[in-house]
Amino acid sequence: MTESLHVVCPRCQTTNRVRVDQLRSAPDCGHCKKALFDGHPAALDEAAFDKQIGRSQLPVLVDFWAPWCGPCRMMAPAYEQAAAQLEPRFRVAKVNTEEAPGLGARFNIRSIPTLALFVNGREVARQPGALTRAADIVAWAQNAAR
Ligand SMILES: [Zn+2]
Repeated sequence: MTESLHVVCPRCQTTNRVRVDQLRSAPDCGHCKKALFDGHPAALDEAAFDKQIGRSQLPVLVDFWAPWCGPCRMMAPAYEQAAAQLEPRFRVAKVNTEEAPGLGARFNIRSIPTLALFVNGREVARQPGALTRAADIVAWAQNAAR
């Protein structure tokens, strides 16, 4: 029997069951038919965040950022590159704290950017401050997920 995982669609937030050996075969969402992994961070509002964190059996890496934040914009290209490398073993997401202030408050985000890693619904690691090299983001996430 092949192990399968719950993967939450980054577009419609439907939970899909994906066999582990199919993760790297560009699986599509059974509901909206879009790619479950497109190599880009998924922008999450509060409702989408709760579905990803609550249901994903992949570790979820979240960048809490805001459009007015210079260091956030500096980190964005590296974060894009990191997303392409971390998928499909991670769900890579970003939360605009201006559009979802409730999440910033709930997780007590004191400075942005802040990276946080969630495993099985729980925050397991947090990194305040910009990491501007994709390799550093990838290494941090992989270490934190162990
Ligand atoms: Zn979908």
